[in-house]
Amino acid sequence: MTVTEQPAVLTIAGSDSGGGAGIQADLKVFTANGCYGASVAVALTAQNTRGVQAVYASPPAFIEQQLRSVLDDIPIKAMKTGMLFDVSSICTVVQVLRSHYAKDPESIPPLVCDPVCVSTSGHNLLQPDAVNVLVSELLPLVFLFTPNKSEAEIILSSHGLEPSDIIDLEGMVEASQALLTLGPKNVLLKGGHLTTTYNEVLKFRAARPDVRMVSTNFDGENTEILQAAGYDTQDCEVVVDVLRTPQRVALFLHPRVDSTSTHGTGCTLSAAIASQLAHGKSVNDGTALAIEYTHTAIESAIPIGKGHSPLNHGHALIM
Ligand code: PLP
Repeated sequence: MTVTEQPAVLTIAGSDSGGGAGIQADLKVFTANGCYGASVAVALTAQNTRGVQAVYASPPAFIEQQLRSVLDDIPIKAMKTGMLFDVSSICTVVQVLRSHYAKDPESIPPLVCDPVCVSTSGHNLLQPDAVNVLVSELLPLVFLFTPNKSEAEIILSSHGLEPSDIIDLEGMVEASQALLTLGPKNVLLKGGHLTTTYNEVLKFRAARPDVRMVSTNFDGENTEILQAAGYDTQDCEVVVDVLRTPQRVALFLHPRVDSTSTHGTGCTLSAAIASQLAHGKSVNDGTALAIEYTHTAIESAIPIGKGHSPLNHGHALIM
């Protein structure tokens, strides 16, 4: 049997008793992406595919102990944060990370921050007064920030930044720049909310040649490869995620999957990116691979429960 190295990745997030989102999803994603997963439970949720029934926050001292236990022993190569719930847990996480890496702040592993605010079922997973603290305390430590539209709007408006309408590609590109000014090194603004077509993306790109177009398996302007990637016509609906790095803006495209099996999609994407960063991939390549992983996990989801089913992590894409 060949044993390959599995870099360790840490999730600092909430537990989902139903197994579809949060820590449970993250650990499955880490394994499927060839990583060893460790976890710090910031909160426990009583949850299933129909929604969140209750939340129990871990005491800050216990969050601190979990984080120290992991960091003191396991060589963490990348990290992600998910549901952080309240001000005290955010401050605890930041303080422990800062003190653990105080001797060499540059050695802090890349941190992907998924600013989980509200579950699809409408339950608050981040207290409203914690939004500012997340921005001021955590974002300066963040390598990649991955909000969706509603999270971006909450965060930008809490900072007096007018969240220009994030209703088209231009608006997304502008908002990604505004989010970058809040302190993270890179921003991935997710575009699941936006209905657009491949053709519209091409038109946008013609007007903005500075914007790079990336897909996991085709080069944007090549129709033949486009068809091979499952885009039968240029009217085909695509999801566009905008990656903003200090150097450039890139649009990551993939075909929209018509599915309600999407519970834990945000957790999955951020955990997959953290896994790829742990493998040493760049933010561009890691994002492309993670989008492909998430797309396949939605496409191959197997119905479980009576509500929104979780993604399927058993399609194992081991590097
Ligand atoms: N529960 C926990 C613990 C989470 O971390 C998240 C997402 O990030 C959710 C629930 C939300 O899941 P969804 O909105 O995809 O159903």
